[in-house]
Amino acid sequence: MTATIQITEPETTISPEMTASLCKELSIALAKFPKVRLGHLPTPLEPMDRLSEILGGPRLWVKRDDCTGLSSGGNKTRKLEYLMADAQQKGADTIITQGATQSNHARQTTAAAAKLGMACHILLEDRTGSNDPNYILNGNVLLDRLHGATVAKRGDGTDMNAEMETLAEELKQKGKTPYIIPGGGSNPIGALGYVNCARELVEQAAGMGLKIDALVHATGSAGTQAGLVTGLAAVQSDIHLLGIGVRAPQEKQEQMVFDLATKTAAYLGTGLTIPRSDVRANTNYVGAGYGLPTDGMISAVKLLAQTEGLLFDPVYSGKGLDGLIAQVKEGYFDGMENVVFLHTGGSAALFGYSDTFDLPGYSE
Ligand SMILES: *Cc1c(COP(=O)(O)O)cnc(C)c1O
Repeated sequence: MTATIQITEPETTISPEMTASLCKELSIALAKFPKVRLGHLPTPLEPMDRLSEILGGPRLWVKRDDCTGLSSGGNKTRKLEYLMADAQQKGADTIITQGATQSNHARQTTAAAAKLGMACHILLEDRTGSNDPNYILNGNVLLDRLHGATVAKRGDGTDMNAEMETLAEELKQKGKTPYIIPGGGSNPIGALGYVNCARELVEQAAGMGLKIDALVHATGSAGTQAGLVTGLAAVQSDIHLLGIGVRAPQEKQEQMVFDLATKTAAYLGTGLTIPRSDVRANTNYVGAGYGLPTDGMISAVKLLAQTEGLLFDPVYSGKGLDGLIAQVKEGYFDGMENVVFLHTGGSAALFGYSDTFDLPGYSE
């Protein structure tokens, strides 16, 4: 009798049953936190077949967080579900937040405050110095005003956190109960929205029989990526996560994401530790600076509008997409089959950047 030698493959991926049970455990951990329903969730996960064909790399997919529903949608809505619930629990009647002039976060916050019957004060930092009337009054700024928020401007480089504290003091003097949401909604409370998104995506892909190899998105104030890193770690996913930076240099961006992910994991309270190696940002597509258009962004936004009928924005998702496209061409995803781009929204900003795209006028 010959002895049989059992060759066991090294365990690289966990079983579907294990994934399902980890997702369930994560749902239970998240259910401890107050949450208000603001978004249309789960958001769709759709293939981008024309783009995939043109680029000739892995099959590209889009996770439609531009379709979260609130005031034209975007990634801040998931964060606001937790942040606004916290504000309500603390008895707040007034929300204060800040962002750049064409802030999508500010716009979604003004809508959430309107929906929940709270007053809203927005401080907008002029980071680009543009005097284009569309930039300063149209796009997201138009919507901030339409949602009834009080909108004030501050110069580039202002200590916006200090400004929010000062405003909160003034409002308290007037008998209000203000609640400050940090820029981008990026703190451990807001990041829970993207812990939940990671769970949602993993369950959605499992339900479709899809194996996602990589997930790519634009990263700025870090809450989105920090939440995703934390959520993917919690369900022991091996999805390769890559943030494309829109402002800070790589080391700073990765450190911000790592710090917030570590705090988010602690806040979640499940004893999870975040490996530093899970945090990756490529910041080669920022161009001259935050909110300043690049040629790559312009081509990427046009390409997606014209091949997939999808709208991306000039500040975040357009630069993220530029990074995705360039990395596909450079072979970063070689050997991978399915790459998902998380569409974080922002198309309202297009109307603040209407001259950037150099589009043809009416034909005869
Ligand atoms: C805010 C924003 C991002 C970046 O998300 P962070 O959590 O700030 O890193 C990406 N895309 C869009 C459209 C955004 O508005």
